[in-house]
Amino acid sequence: MGFLDKLRNFGTQIKRIEDTVYNGKQSLLEVYELNAKLELEIAQRTKDLDIANKQMLTLQHIWEMMNSSEPLSSVLIAITNSLKGELGYKHSCIVKNFNDGDESYSQIIAYSGSMFEMTFKEIFKSMPSEIKLHLPKIEELYEENPEIEIYQTTKVIDLIKKSLPTEVSDFDPNSITSKSYLILPLKSNHSDFGYLIVFSKREHATENELKFLNLFSKQIELAITIADLFQAVREQAVTDSMTGLYNRRYFEEFMQKEAVRANRQNLKFTVIGIDLDHLKEINDTYGHNYGDIAIKAVSDVLKNSCRNIDIAARMGGEEFNVILPGVDSNGGLVFAERIRKNINKLELEKIGHITASIGVGTYSEHSEDIDELLELVDRAMYESKRNGRNRVSLAKAISEISWQEIAIETFIDILSKHRVPLDDKTSRLLNKKIKETNLDRELIYQVSDELVSTYNPENSKGKSKKKVLLATLLAKRFELSKDNVDKLKIAMLLYDIGNTMLPKDLLNKTDPLNDEELAYIKQHPLIAAREILKPITCITDIIPIIEKHHENWNGSGYPMHISGDSIPIESQIILIVDSYFALTENRPYRNALSKDNALNIIKNDAGTKWSLALAEEFISVINNEDIND
Ligand code: GH3
Ligand code: MG
Repeated sequence: MGFLDKLRNFGTQIKRIEDTVYNGKQSLLEVYELNAKLELEIAQRTKDLDIANKQMLTLQHIWEMMNSSEPLSSVLIAITNSLKGELGYKHSCIVKNFNDGDESYSQIIAYSGSMFEMTFKEIFKSMPSEIKLHLPKIEELYEENPEIEIYQTTKVIDLIKKSLPTEVSDFDPNSITSKSYLILPLKSNHSDFGYLIVFSKREHATENELKFLNLFSKQIELAITIADLFQAVREQAVTDSMTGLYNRRYFEEFMQKEAVRANRQNLKFTVIGIDLDHLKEINDTYGHNYGDIAIKAVSDVLKNSCRNIDIAARMGGEEFNVILPGVDSNGGLVFAERIRKNINKLELEKIGHITASIGVGTYSEHSEDIDELLELVDRAMYESKRNGRNRVSLAKAISEISWQEIAIETFIDILSKHRVPLDDKTSRLLNKKIKETNLDRELIYQVSDELVSTYNPENSKGKSKKKVLLATLLAKRFELSKDNVDKLKIAMLLYDIGNTMLPKDLLNKTDPLNDEELAYIKQHPLIAAREILKPITCITDIIPIIEKHHENWNGSGYPMHISGDSIPIESQIILIVDSYFALTENRPYRNALSKDNALNIIKNDAGTKWSLALAEEFISVINNEDIND
């Protein structure tokens, strides 16, 4: 090969090398390009994965919340919040449809935080949960996405305008910056019960986004449906979960039906009210768990003592009621006593013995009104508490007891709050008597007599009772209503209470009183009575009767100098009864008058101190009725 050939050859080789290098460069460039493309794709995929991951985590979080004991409202707030935050929506809210009678409306039951609240308040001037919304029918407004039922619209302003109540006129819808709304119907049993509304920053939603939101709305449907089911189950429940006894709702329904049955078949039924004694102390000493143990122990006693047809219920806390169909008060008392003993027999870990206070009342014996009967049983139970707990008390019909109970409660109040200046011995004695004796008619008269004798040593035992009886007989002649007779009876026991405040030397004075002393003894007890009784609310309407019991028929009495029918008949009766008993007992300045002499004075004072009619009726009652029992 000649030199030239070699050179040509060499040139070709170089060219080939050059070509190869060029080609290599080309493919390297392609690789670079490909690489860059791949990187971009990876970045996009990572982003997608990241979003998918967030969506997954969000769904998982919601699912966990739904399985926890969080209330529905917290679950829904968490749902709306999670749509906002990282998933990038502006706001979201859940709307539920309501229908009360003739009005259908929607109300926001959860929303995504303070920005939504602020915007809403700006538009509606109220909190989101306070406004009844009348949303337009979404089917008419938006094109439906056929695959998944989501409505999207960019006509945000239209929707706002259409939902606004007419009174909101100064709002500029253009201030809303969302680009689109996504509305997802919430369904239960194939019918809509509300919507999830999402305010988006983007005009269009990707397919993935729509799928995710759809999943999301399913979670909401589930959460609300489960909560509604729980509510329904709770409403249908008839038992108390802690004790297994019937609950209050069932008890009340049963009692209502039992009353209807009792009326129809002329039957009775008895209600027993049981309250655990000193539970607070048990809780405080041994802890709430031991308090619960005591409650369950009482429940077990009730379960074991009841017949199949009896209904034992936990009314709440440490209060139980039992209905005994077909049982009268005697049977009820036997049952109650057995329960009391069985409760007291229990030997509980750490706590030891427990006791309960019990009240017993019978339908058609004590009342034919179930609410009233429950009230009477409750009062009887409190009477057991008052008398030392761990005991059974029988209810008293309202017609029998109410005035006495009021009177005794008034005495307890006066004594325990030291409203009158009694010496310690008397005060202790009376207090003990009231607390340890069962409340009956006699107790009230005994306490009243003892109180009177602290300022009137001439007061004999049994006088309070006679005065009340006499007043009652007179009231009947004047056809006073039962209510007014009851007031009169209480007033009859309390009208002189102000005398407890009079100085002893004035009360025992044998010489005639001077003008100043007379004025004092007239005015002071009335003022004192008012001051003593004023704080006791259950006798507020007794005070005006007592204040006027020194007024005379012709206006010559005191302190207001009123006359005739302006003086309440109850006050007139107190005056005449009081005067008669005063005349027939010794006074430091004169001896007791005989019955006939006293009646003569009563007759003489007719027309001045009291009316002719009252004097006549009074004399007739004294002469014809037996007031000695
Ligand atoms: P009394 O003898 O006058 O009835 O006194 P008491 O302490 O039983 O009654 P009080 O009404 O003063 O207090 C009732 C207490 O019972 C207060 C409340 O915390 C407690 N309690 C209510 N329900 C439950 C419960 O389910 N479990 C427990 N452990 N305690 C309860
Ligand atoms: Mg209690």
